[in-house]
Amino acid sequence: MPDITITFLGTGAGNCIYRAHTAIVVDCADGTRLLLDSSSGNSVMRQGAAVGMLASQFNQVLLTHHHGDHMGGIPFISDQRRRIDANAAPLRVFSTSEALDRLGKVCLATQLNVPSVDEEGAYFADGSQFLGWTAVDNGKWITLGPNTLASTFPADHIPGAVGWKIESNGVSVVFSGDTRFSPSVAEASQGARLLIHEAFCTDKDQKLANSRGHSSAGEAARVAAQAGVAELVITHIDSPFSADTQPLIDDARLHYPGPISAANDLTVVTVATP
Ligand SMILES: [Zn+2]
Ligand SMILES: [Zn+2]
Repeated sequence: MPDITITFLGTGAGNCIYRAHTAIVVDCADGTRLLLDSSSGNSVMRQGAAVGMLASQFNQVLLTHHHGDHMGGIPFISDQRRRIDANAAPLRVFSTSEALDRLGKVCLATQLNVPSVDEEGAYFADGSQFLGWTAVDNGKWITLGPNTLASTFPADHIPGAVGWKIESNGVSVVFSGDTRFSPSVAEASQGARLLIHEAFCTDKDQKLANSRGHSSAGEAARVAAQAGVAELVITHIDSPFSADTQPLIDDARLHYPGPISAANDLTVVTVATP
């Protein structure tokens, strides 16, 4: 029976100093590999190397938003792919037009020898492509593999922020991205086998989380309960809870009766598919 295998390469909030920033590898039942967010800097390469995943094996990135802890790794992954294979196809990035516009600006500002971008990607001085990207519309499915589809839904974080719903062999996995408690996340997660939701802090500091565009653990669990998902994994953990995530799980437990766990860097979760 093929499974969907989810490997958390990075599980830290933007200011977390103990964990890598957000990057989640989804290996779908049909062999399609998707990278959900790219962490920052060289974290995907470092964390991936620890579990035998090379940059050359990442072809498609689903980006939730343009904050540096989610988008900053993309130029490094693309560069590394070419070091491994000079003829590698450009890394493909799927996100909202807002996020891709910022990604283009990052490429122009930080990448030597990448002087131009357009609506389809970023280019080296010789005209060859450095990155390819596709703007997505919320609610519209895109085909990413033989039996794998994905679509975005709005998150409540910054303009252009989204979450992703991945459907492979008829089984759904949803990633909230960064978001406050949002009915749109619950709606998109209806019937999902697994919800991966950010949880910035315990419920005691919910107002602080909301003021920064994030959710408390209890709010993540309320989304899971409203959507009726089969399992909840929380991620995007801040420094105070990095060593001990139990307080987050305890708060989540008050709102959702199903299986709850907190992802750590290099946690692997499998989801059975038909
Ligand atoms: Zn973040
Ligand atoms: Zn963010």
